[in-house]
Amino acid sequence: MRAAEFGHGYNVTLVFGGYHGDEPVSAELARRFARYMATHGEELSNRMVVVVPEVNPDGLHKGTRKNANAVDLNRNLPATNWRPRNPHDVAYGGPYPASEPETRAVLWVLKKYRPSKVISIHQARQGPMLDYNGPAAPLARAMSRRNGYKEGAFFGALSGSLGSYVGVDKGTPIVTLELRKGVTPEAAWQQNRAALIAAMYY
Ligand SMILES: [Zn+2]
Repeated sequence: MRAAEFGHGYNVTLVFGGYHGDEPVSAELARRFARYMATHGEELSNRMVVVVPEVNPDGLHKGTRKNANAVDLNRNLPATNWRPRNPHDVAYGGPYPASEPETRAVLWVLKKYRPSKVISIHQARQGPMLDYNGPAAPLARAMSRRNGYKEGAFFGALSGSLGSYVGVDKGTPIVTLELRKGVTPEAAWQQNRAALIAAMYY
Protein backbone atom coordinates (compact mmCIF):
# COMPACT_ATOMS: atom_id res chain seq x y z
CA MET A 1 0.00 0.00 0.00
CA ARG A 2 1.53 3.28 -1.12
CA ALA A 3 1.21 6.39 1.07
CA ALA A 4 2.26 9.69 -0.55
CA GLU A 5 3.41 12.26 2.00
CA PHE A 6 3.53 16.05 1.51
CA GLY A 7 4.74 18.83 3.83
CA HIS A 8 5.47 18.88 7.55
CA GLY A 9 3.57 19.93 10.64
CA TYR A 10 1.16 18.92 13.36
CA ASN A 11 -1.98 19.49 11.28
CA VAL A 12 -2.16 16.20 9.38
CA THR A 13 -4.84 15.42 6.80
CA LEU A 14 -5.04 11.74 5.85
CA VAL A 15 -6.92 10.82 2.66
CA PHE A 16 -7.92 7.25 1.72
CA GLY A 17 -9.22 6.15 -1.70
CA GLY A 18 -10.03 2.80 -3.27
CA TYR A 19 -11.33 1.13 -0.13
CA HIS A 20 -13.90 -0.67 -2.30
CA GLY A 21 -12.52 -1.99 -5.59
CA ASP A 22 -15.74 -1.37 -7.52
CA GLU A 23 -15.41 2.36 -6.75
CA PRO A 24 -12.44 3.21 -9.04
CA VAL A 25 -13.09 6.96 -9.22
CA SER A 26 -12.48 7.13 -5.45
CA ALA A 27 -8.89 6.00 -6.13
CA GLU A 28 -8.56 8.32 -9.13
CA LEU A 29 -9.71 11.36 -7.15
CA ALA A 30 -7.17 10.56 -4.41
CA ARG A 31 -4.43 10.20 -7.06
CA ARG A 32 -5.35 13.56 -8.58
CA PHE A 33 -5.27 15.22 -5.17
CA ALA A 34 -1.82 13.70 -4.55
CA ARG A 35 -0.61 15.00 -7.94
CA TYR A 36 -1.97 18.43 -7.07
CA MET A 37 -0.19 18.46 -3.71
CA ALA A 38 3.05 17.38 -5.40
CA THR A 39 3.04 20.59 -7.46
CA HIS A 40 1.50 22.99 -4.91
CA GLY A 41 3.77 22.48 -1.90
CA GLU A 42 3.61 26.21 -1.13
CA GLU A 43 -0.03 25.80 -0.05
CA LEU A 44 0.97 23.39 2.70
CA SER A 45 2.64 25.85 5.14
CA ASN A 46 3.05 23.92 8.41
CA ARG A 47 0.65 21.22 7.36
CA MET A 48 1.04 17.64 6.28
CA VAL A 49 -1.09 15.75 3.78
CA VAL A 50 -0.86 11.96 3.44
CA VAL A 51 -2.70 10.24 0.58
CA VAL A 52 -3.31 6.48 0.28
CA PRO A 53 -5.08 6.17 -3.10
CA GLU A 54 -5.45 2.38 -3.26
CA VAL A 55 -6.38 0.74 0.03
CA ASN A 56 -7.72 -2.31 -1.85
CA PRO A 57 -5.41 -2.93 -4.85
CA ASP A 58 -6.67 -6.49 -5.51
CA GLY A 59 -10.28 -5.34 -5.50
CA LEU A 60 -9.48 -2.40 -7.80
CA HIS A 61 -7.73 -4.78 -10.19
CA LYS A 62 -10.74 -7.12 -10.30
CA GLY A 63 -13.43 -4.46 -9.94
CA THR A 64 -14.86 -6.05 -6.78
CA ARG A 65 -16.02 -4.35 -3.58
CA LYS A 66 -14.15 -6.83 -1.39
CA ASN A 67 -10.47 -7.81 -1.29
CA ALA A 68 -8.97 -11.07 -2.65
CA ASN A 69 -10.14 -12.88 0.52
CA ALA A 70 -13.72 -11.69 -0.12
CA VAL A 71 -13.68 -9.40 2.90
CA ASP A 72 -15.19 -5.90 2.95
CA LEU A 73 -12.19 -3.90 4.23
CA ASN A 74 -14.44 -1.09 5.46
CA ARG A 75 -16.01 -3.56 7.93
CA ASN A 76 -12.73 -5.15 9.05
CA LEU A 77 -11.38 -2.42 11.36
CA PRO A 78 -10.95 -3.38 15.04
CA ALA A 79 -13.73 -0.99 16.12
CA THR A 80 -15.54 -1.74 19.38
CA ASN A 81 -18.72 -2.29 17.34
CA TRP A 82 -17.22 -5.04 15.11
CA ARG A 83 -19.61 -8.00 14.89
CA PRO A 84 -19.25 -11.29 12.99
CA ARG A 85 -21.33 -11.67 9.82
CA ASN A 86 -22.16 -14.31 7.28
CA PRO A 87 -19.28 -14.66 4.77
CA HIS A 88 -21.84 -14.33 1.95
CA ASP A 89 -22.95 -10.94 3.24
CA VAL A 90 -22.07 -8.10 0.83
CA ALA A 91 -20.47 -6.34 3.82
CA TYR A 92 -18.73 -9.37 5.36
CA GLY A 93 -16.16 -7.97 7.81
CA GLY A 94 -13.79 -10.94 7.93
CA PRO A 95 -13.31 -13.82 10.39
CA TYR A 96 -12.04 -11.44 13.10
CA PRO A 97 -11.17 -7.71 13.38
CA ALA A 98 -8.06 -6.64 11.42
CA SER A 99 -7.79 -10.12 9.86
CA GLU A 100 -6.73 -8.58 6.51
CA PRO A 101 -3.25 -7.31 5.54
CA GLU A 102 -4.81 -4.15 4.03
CA THR A 103 -6.43 -3.35 7.38
CA ARG A 104 -3.16 -3.85 9.22
CA ALA A 105 -1.50 -1.47 6.72
CA VAL A 106 -4.23 1.14 7.35
CA LEU A 107 -3.69 0.76 11.12
CA TRP A 108 0.04 1.26 10.61
CA VAL A 109 -0.59 4.46 8.60
CA LEU A 110 -2.95 5.77 11.32
CA LYS A 111 -0.39 5.03 14.03
CA LYS A 112 2.52 6.52 12.09
CA TYR A 113 0.87 9.83 11.08
CA ARG A 114 -1.68 10.33 13.90
CA PRO A 115 -3.99 12.37 11.64
CA SER A 116 -5.87 15.48 12.81
CA LYS A 117 -8.68 14.46 10.45
CA VAL A 118 -9.39 11.74 7.92
CA ILE A 119 -11.16 11.88 4.54
CA SER A 120 -12.21 8.48 3.14
CA ILE A 121 -13.37 8.61 -0.50
CA HIS A 122 -16.02 6.17 -1.75
CA GLN A 123 -18.75 6.00 -4.39
CA ALA A 124 -22.37 5.23 -3.54
CA ARG A 125 -25.70 4.96 -5.28
CA GLN A 126 -27.05 7.46 -2.71
CA GLY A 127 -24.22 9.88 -3.52
CA PRO A 128 -22.97 12.45 -3.79
CA MET A 129 -22.85 13.24 -0.07
CA LEU A 130 -20.58 13.91 2.87
CA ASP A 131 -21.22 11.35 5.60
CA TYR A 132 -19.37 11.82 8.88
CA ASN A 133 -18.53 10.03 12.13
CA GLY A 134 -17.19 11.45 15.37
CA PRO A 135 -16.65 15.19 15.91
CA ALA A 136 -16.68 16.00 12.19
CA ALA A 137 -19.82 18.10 11.60
CA PRO A 138 -17.86 21.38 11.14
CA LEU A 139 -15.35 19.68 8.81
CA ALA A 140 -18.19 18.24 6.72
CA ARG A 141 -19.84 21.69 6.56
CA ALA A 142 -16.56 23.30 5.45
CA MET A 143 -16.31 20.78 2.60
CA SER A 144 -20.00 21.06 1.73
CA ARG A 145 -19.62 24.82 1.22
CA ARG A 146 -17.09 24.02 -1.55
CA ASN A 147 -18.66 21.03 -3.32
CA GLY A 148 -22.36 21.64 -2.59
CA TYR A 149 -22.86 18.04 -1.42
CA LYS A 150 -25.39 17.40 1.36
CA GLU A 151 -23.72 16.62 4.69
CA GLY A 152 -24.85 14.65 7.71
CA ALA A 153 -24.41 11.53 9.83
CA PHE A 154 -26.40 9.48 7.31
CA PHE A 155 -25.11 5.93 7.70
CA GLY A 156 -24.19 6.03 11.40
CA ALA A 157 -21.51 3.82 12.98
CA LEU A 158 -21.38 0.63 10.92
CA SER A 159 -19.77 -2.55 12.27
CA GLY A 160 -15.99 -2.41 11.91
CA SER A 161 -16.00 0.60 9.57
CA LEU A 162 -13.21 3.16 9.35
CA GLY A 163 -15.74 5.77 10.51
CA SER A 164 -16.49 3.72 13.64
CA TYR A 165 -12.82 3.10 14.43
CA VAL A 166 -11.44 6.59 13.70
CA GLY A 167 -14.47 8.78 14.44
CA VAL A 168 -16.31 7.02 17.26
CA ASP A 169 -13.56 5.04 19.04
CA LYS A 170 -10.60 7.43 18.57
CA GLY A 171 -12.56 10.70 18.49
CA THR A 172 -10.80 11.91 15.34
CA PRO A 173 -12.98 13.76 12.80
CA ILE A 174 -13.64 11.60 9.73
CA VAL A 175 -15.66 12.45 6.64
CA THR A 176 -16.65 9.79 4.14
CA LEU A 177 -16.79 11.58 0.80
CA GLU A 178 -19.34 9.58 -1.20
CA LEU A 179 -19.08 10.36 -4.91
CA ARG A 180 -21.85 9.42 -7.30
CA LYS A 181 -21.45 5.88 -8.77
CA GLY A 182 -21.14 6.92 -12.42
CA VAL A 183 -19.17 10.15 -11.99
CA THR A 184 -16.19 10.69 -14.31
CA PRO A 185 -12.75 11.26 -12.77
CA GLU A 186 -12.63 14.76 -14.29
CA ALA A 187 -16.03 15.75 -12.87
CA ALA A 188 -15.10 14.29 -9.46
CA TRP A 189 -11.92 16.38 -9.44
CA GLN A 190 -13.63 19.59 -10.59
CA GLN A 191 -16.34 19.15 -7.94
CA ASN A 192 -13.98 18.27 -5.08
CA ARG A 193 -10.66 20.04 -5.58
CA ALA A 194 -11.69 23.04 -3.44
CA ALA A 195 -13.42 20.79 -0.88
CA LEU A 196 -10.27 18.70 -0.37
CA ILE A 197 -8.16 21.84 -0.05
CA ALA A 198 -10.66 23.20 2.50
CA ALA A 199 -10.29 19.95 4.46
CA MET A 200 -6.51 20.36 4.37
CA TYR A 201 -6.78 23.91 5.80
CA TYR A 202 -9.35 22.90 8.39
ZN1 LIG B 1 -17.41 2.24 -0.71
